[in-house]
Formats: sequence, structure tokens, C-alpha cells
Amino acid sequence: MKRSISVLLVFIFLVSCSTVPITGRKRINVVSDAQILPASFAQYSGFLSENKLSSDVSKSDEIKSVGARISKAVDRYMRANGMTAEADSYRWEFNLIEDETVNAWCMPGGKVVFYTGILPICDNVDGVAAVMRHEVAHAFAKHGQERMTSSYGQQLGGIAVAISTGNKDPRTKELWNTIYGVGSQVGMLAYSRTHETEADKLGVVFMIMAGYNPNEAVNVWVRMSQRAAAQNAPPEFLSTHPSNQTRIKNLKDWIPQAKVIAKKLNAQTLAN
Ligand SMILES: [Zn+2]
Repeated sequence: MKRSISVLLVFIFLVSCSTVPITGRKRINVVSDAQILPASFAQYSGFLSENKLSSDVSKSDEIKSVGARISKAVDRYMRANGMTAEADSYRWEFNLIEDETVNAWCMPGGKVVFYTGILPICDNVDGVAAVMRHEVAHAFAKHGQERMTSSYGQQLGGIAVAISTGNKDPRTKELWNTIYGVGSQVGMLAYSRTHETEADKLGVVFMIMAGYNPNEAVNVWVRMSQRAAAQNAPPEFLSTHPSNQTRIKNLKDWIPQAKVIAKKLNAQTLAN
């Protein structure tokens, strides 16, 4: 009996072990897209129905057009690198919510929200792209699913709750809010340093592929840190996305290499 359980555990480990594209990091994720995407889309539409979309048409359009350009770069990458199933199943969507909270997030399958409160930190279109590429990269690398797989996810209620498609169920909603940093509730889960670094790296590549200025990613983090220091309280975005000088330095160091990778990937994915 014990032996068969061990064999089963090894089997589960092997089938759920995969590699993050581009960075090559090994990850364990037992949550499939088929399980999580319907739940994600239900949570997202529930969120939109309970929150106010921004009435600023030009700002909302900017969020949508930047999101479309960056997600197209991701889509090109996926289709050229054996990820057609993912490319077909993601439903990219970008909405601006009227809310002072300094935050942005992305749920599995490409469901992005920006709050109007983060726009002064973005400052310009490349700044919007800098926040967008980071959130899109979390979704591309499936960091949320890894968190659900991890002991954090288990403590918070587990995968069974997370994949419930009932967008009104308070327990499911709370779990999603915690894992994806939705809203301004206390107790959101900070992304791990590994996930943050990876989202920064992947995101810069996608941002360059889409034609934006990667140096603005550095400036966004500088503005975020300055605001936190001035107000003596971190914006919501910083409570889930820890910021420090190391991160700014890492981004600066990474940009030259990211330019080389983005150029190569653009050549590969724009060839056909
Ligand atoms: Zn992040």
C-alpha cells in the first residue's frame, strides 16, 4: 500500500512538472488550464459587474491598445513555440476600473484590470506598457496556478475551491482576491521573489517585442518607491509586488540581454 502511494506521488510529480518558456525554470503545477480558465473567466466577469468601469474613454482605450499590442507579442511567441493550445484558450481582456487604489492585476487566461489610481505611476504610454507587461508575464508563466499548487494555496482553501466557477461564492472570491492581489483587502499574498524576477524578465522581453521603451519599466518602479516613501505607506501594488533597489538594478542589468532575445523572437515569430 505504502509503495503504491509512493509510486502515485512520483507519477503526480512527473506529470505536473514543467518548464517555464524563455527562462527555463522548472515548476510544479497540478492545476490545468482546462480546470482554471472557466473559473478565472467567471471571477473576472463577476468582478467587472461589481466594480465601476472608468468613464475616461481615452485612458480606457490606451489600456486596451497597450494590452492588445503586448498580448499579441505573447500570442506570436506561443504559436511559434508549441503553445498553440494556450494561445487558443487565452481570452485577453483589458479594463480600466474607476478606483483610487494603486494597483493592477491579471487572472489566468489573460484577464487584466488596471485601477485609475495606478495611472499617475504609469505617467505615459510606455509606463502603462511597463505595468502591463509585468502582469501579462505573471499570466504567461502561470504563477497563480503555481501558488494554488503550493502549500499557500492549500492553506487558503485549496484547488477545489479555486476552480469553482461560482463567481458569487464568497470563499472562492476571497481565495482569488488573495492569490491575484485583487482589490484593497489586507492579507493579500505577496508574490515570491522568484515569481517577481521572472515576471520582470519575461515582461521586458514582451514589452520590447511590442515596440515599447523598456527603460520606462525602471522609471515606473522608481516612481512607485518614491510614492511609497512620500506617503509612508506602500501602494496596494507594492504589498503584492515587493519593490527594492535590487529589483531596479536587476531590471537595468537585464534590459540589454532582453533586447537581444526580443530581436531574435521577433525575427522568429514575424518571419511567417
Ligand atoms: Zn508581480
